[in-house]
Amino acid sequence: MSHLTWQIGDVRITRVQEFEMEGLEWVIEQASAANLGKIPWLAPHFVNGEGEAVLSIHALVIETRDRRILVDTCVGNDKNLPVIADWHQRTGPFLADLADAGYPRESVDTVLCTHLHVDHVGWNTMRVDGKWQPTFAEARYLVAHDEWAHWSEKTDEFTTQVLDESVRPVWDAGLVDLVDANHRVCDEVWLEPTPGHTPGHVSVRVSSRGEDAVITGDMIHHPCQIAEPGWGAQVDHDFDQGVRTRSDFLARYGDQPVLVIGTHFAGPSAGRIVRDAGTYRLDVG
Ligand SMILES: [Zn+2]
Repeated sequence: MSHLTWQIGDVRITRVQEFEMEGLEWVIEQASAANLGKIPWLAPHFVNGEGEAVLSIHALVIETRDRRILVDTCVGNDKNLPVIADWHQRTGPFLADLADAGYPRESVDTVLCTHLHVDHVGWNTMRVDGKWQPTFAEARYLVAHDEWAHWSEKTDEFTTQVLDESVRPVWDAGLVDLVDANHRVCDEVWLEPTPGHTPGHVSVRVSSRGEDAVITGDMIHHPCQIAEPGWGAQVDHDFDQGVRTRSDFLARYGDQPVLVIGTHFAGPSAGRIVRDAGTYRLDVG
């Protein structure tokens, strides 16, 4: 598998994809093929031949001179997710692909989850001899305070299953650091609070030698929300806050020399946000 990479000054960012999926209306009600067809620049990268949304599930490795930071850990293998059939008990080659990209799991020193949804925490753990163990045993796992406070109170069956399989084993191993939503990870990398989708949701900023990038997380699931920031996700914890956060983000990064890398953007996965006819679009160059 080939991996996308971007160079931001001295920092290299690499996309390692777990899989792609099509169809978005289960997440964003307005994202029908008919509505997406009204945003012509989504073709050819972000919609398929039928005009349906295409999404990528991937992790992003941020490599600085002395750090290897893995942002979001996809769905994972062997997870019990019967309500999402395609994600249930997967057996994909993600760890081999990560190693192939130059990052065997032992070499990762930091795991950073933008939020604790099921498709962002999966490879936090792997099943070994029937037990869930941290995949990245040499790493610290960073989670925003507000994010853990929110999820750790939940008692529903789905959340409990996700936490028990993909988050609590990392706590039990003593590898979690709770951090502020504007935490600086190292000179070149820091968090930026982008709440709404979840209470402690963060985006990730990278800056080196005058070059800049930002990793969205699920504050924007799909580039259609760059044209239509009012299209939130049904699962957003605070829908209106999500719209405000997205609008602020577009105003902040619109027409700026900042590479915007989408956590679920398919195709080239990144571009620059430019003003376009009263709203914005993603210019993939
Ligand atoms: Zn997601």
